[in-house]
Amino acid sequence: MCRNGTYICIYQETKAMIDFAHTIGQRKKALEKLLHTIIKYEEEIVKALYDDFKKPGFESVITETAYVISDLKETISKIHSLTKPKKVRAALLNFPSSDYIYSEPYGKVLIIAPWNYPFQLAICPLVAAVSAGNTVVLKPSELTPHTSATLSKIITESFSKNHVTVEEGGVEKSTELLSSRWDYIFFTGSVPVGKTVAKAAAEYLTPVTLELGGKSPCIVEQSADMALAAKRIVWGKFINAGQTCIAPDYILVHASAKQLLIEQLKAEITKAYGTDISTSPDFARIINAKNWERLVNYIEPGKVIFGGIHHKDNLYIAPTLIDEPDLKSELMQNEIFGPILPIISYQNEQEIHTIINSYEKPLSLYVFTKSDRFSDFILENFSFGGGCINDTVIHIANRNLPFGGVGHSGMGAYHGQSSFDTFSHKKAITKRGTWLDVPLRYAPYKDKLKTLKKIFKWI
Ligand code: NAD
Repeated sequence: MCRNGTYICIYQETKAMIDFAHTIGQRKKALEKLLHTIIKYEEEIVKALYDDFKKPGFESVITETAYVISDLKETISKIHSLTKPKKVRAALLNFPSSDYIYSEPYGKVLIIAPWNYPFQLAICPLVAAVSAGNTVVLKPSELTPHTSATLSKIITESFSKNHVTVEEGGVEKSTELLSSRWDYIFFTGSVPVGKTVAKAAAEYLTPVTLELGGKSPCIVEQSADMALAAKRIVWGKFINAGQTCIAPDYILVHASAKQLLIEQLKAEITKAYGTDISTSPDFARIINAKNWERLVNYIEPGKVIFGGIHHKDNLYIAPTLIDEPDLKSELMQNEIFGPILPIISYQNEQEIHTIINSYEKPLSLYVFTKSDRFSDFILENFSFGGGCINDTVIHIANRNLPFGGVGHSGMGAYHGQSSFDTFSHKKAITKRGTWLDVPLRYAPYKDKLKTLKKIFKWI
């Protein structure tokens, strides 16, 4: 924030700051410092996540700290190759020339993060933005105050104030930040707030990445290995207590396989979390009372075939299976984002079409099958951000795959090379030779059209 208390001048100051952020060596040094600081505070981060929503330590390491540390290490090791201008094939029409793509930082980046993976989803975009040479203001979620405070400490210790800062706060803070001018906005969160962000960005024609949500289907065809499918669905659905943007939202299972799948799902839930799940150290809590109430209202007691137990005092909701919900119910009209898993049977591929296409394009889609024909049919017929064949969620672990939504589940993508590219303007440069100047393009054009047409036919 600048001396007169507005963010406008952050934008102006950025112009001067960019020189500092431009140096590859300095970016690398800053990221190394961040890595060192995260390793130093790793236990504190895990504790903060536990204090915020009883996130199990194992899940915090696998989905937050270890994930971020490995992302940082890879970015640091690749920073020179990422930032180097890329030589591309020159156009014959421009002969003689050599052509390059320069990656230029946008400048001042605003990152707004959600609460559900509050460390990873704040730090990974930040690492990418810094590697690309930008300066960053990070607004973490107000719903995870312990993690946000730790994040703030880590950032303050790792970066100078004019390079990266954290602005803690809720909607008001976000609104205030969004009213200013930025060179890039990276938002992760819900669809309605995504729209607000896009509107604010439009004011200054600021480019945005929107990482949003939606109802991600999980299709189980009758040829699938049901025991393995159940194990992988249970893990992907109930990690973080179902509060994962790419968690399977609902199951579409072939009617002939439904009973077997349900039995396997029940067995896998019990295997993972025991018979009294409320005492399991491996199952997180709902983030706050508002979300707990929203989720409890989705549970129609008559349709519960497993779980359904909930305790308001500690924001617990058991892993819950719902049989054949009404597609018009609140449960099936909203992104669930909690440990409730509706199971819907289908008879034929037309029914899959009808159900999936009644929603906006999802962030993820999962299909369990041994049939290549069936998985090809799904991939060719439905648009979604990304997904897995015969697993859930784990496509996010491969940094060679871009991660992002399509349509209402978001725009833009990151991870690996895509992360660096997201935060870089690609400046296209043609460097012409001066030893030859083909006269064809210059006026007067008389008698040149025939030759031009011949050349266009040839190239
Ligand atoms: P949210 O949209 O409520 O909040 C996200 C961020 O926006 C927070 O920092 C919050 O303070 C801020 N915010 C909230 N209301 C705002 C407003 N009116 N104006 C400006 N800023 C505002 O989302 P959430 O509850 O934190 O996260 C859950 C949602 O995020 C789910 O829909 C989930 O699918 C999605 N999500 C998507 C991804 C992804 O990578 N695609 C990852 C995690 C979560």
